[in-house]
Amino acid sequence: MKKIRQPIIAVLGHVDHGKTTMLDRIRNTRVAEKEAGGITQHIGATEVPIDVVKQLAGPLLSLWKGEIKLPGLLFIDTPGHEAFTSLRARGGSLADLAILIVDVNEGFQPQTLESIEILRKYRTPFIVAANKIDRIKGWKITENEPFLVNIKKQDQRAQQELETKLWELIGKFYEIGFQANRFDRVQDFRKELAIIPISAKYGIGIPELLVLISGLAQKYLEEKLKIEVEGPARGTILEVREEIGFGTTIDVIVYDGTLKKDDMIVVGGKDKAIVTKIRALLKPKPLDEIRDPRYRFDQVEEVSASAGIKIAAPGLEDALAGSPVIAVRGEEELERAKGEILDQIKSVIISTDKV
Ligand code: GDP
Repeated sequence: MKKIRQPIIAVLGHVDHGKTTMLDRIRNTRVAEKEAGGITQHIGATEVPIDVVKQLAGPLLSLWKGEIKLPGLLFIDTPGHEAFTSLRARGGSLADLAILIVDVNEGFQPQTLESIEILRKYRTPFIVAANKIDRIKGWKITENEPFLVNIKKQDQRAQQELETKLWELIGKFYEIGFQANRFDRVQDFRKELAIIPISAKYGIGIPELLVLISGLAQKYLEEKLKIEVEGPARGTILEVREEIGFGTTIDVIVYDGTLKKDDMIVVGGKDKAIVTKIRALLKPKPLDEIRDPRYRFDQVEEVSASAGIKIAAPGLEDALAGSPVIAVRGEEELERAKGEILDQIKSVIISTDKV
């Protein structure tokens, strides 16, 4: 059975431009209607169900003319381009999409440019969040408001100042070969980069950000996101970690198939492929249910892409962050997976040799 999985989204940008604050805002997004469900905390990632996006967006949904059929969005919790480049999947980046955050008052900084070069190299579609608009002189703050509502409340001078800053950004993008525009003035999202003015601190513009990234995924990644959901899982290791009671565990983002509790997995290690059998699949307990910090996880039987999950299994001590995890069902698949992982280890060794 085919399904469309959640796109995996990374947040990049210069230090202090607001990556962490924006992710926190997204994590803490609340919707008024109970039935819209909530944000789910995964291991190393945060899921925003599409109902939450729709609920937040209200009439803004018409920014995208087509229907959005995605189940939601999965944000990688670790921001920055180091995480982006070290997390790979099938030769590309694990992230399907990115949000590039730029402090609108500071404009382009060295890591902004580095981030753009990396996104270009990986051909990752992205949108731009022009952050900290609340710092503009005289800006009137209403928390969690859509930008298009908030902008109408600003006096002429504040509006003008934002316009000037946005034009500076657009100019910078032009210099490096990108046509960019404020999102509501974009004619063709394929040709123009959308800039969404936001305040991560106060949640202004977050609704538009979520709608636009959903639209972008729906429009340009539908084929990539269509997976054979019952197939064997594939993922990428975010982190290798000791856990009390479980030994060495790996935190994994699953981007394909379904991972089952008794699956055999092949994992990339320091210099070899590790073959092991899953002992437990762990997801974080909801915060309000944690009474004893030793019991921070719930065990699950299976998990389907896209998801962040912790795997406990014997022999994971030498597993390497950034390596693939491939579930196998049968001898032939096992050999193929081992070969694939060894090839990747070799290619990483060769490319670090060059440096
Ligand atoms: P990161 O290094 O990119 O993750 O940046 P942080 O999220 O840690 O933010 C750096 C600083 O900028 C912190 O002091 C934040 O409180 C502040 N900050 C982030 N976003 C905003 C915003 O929208 N408005 C204002 N005024 N400050 C912000």
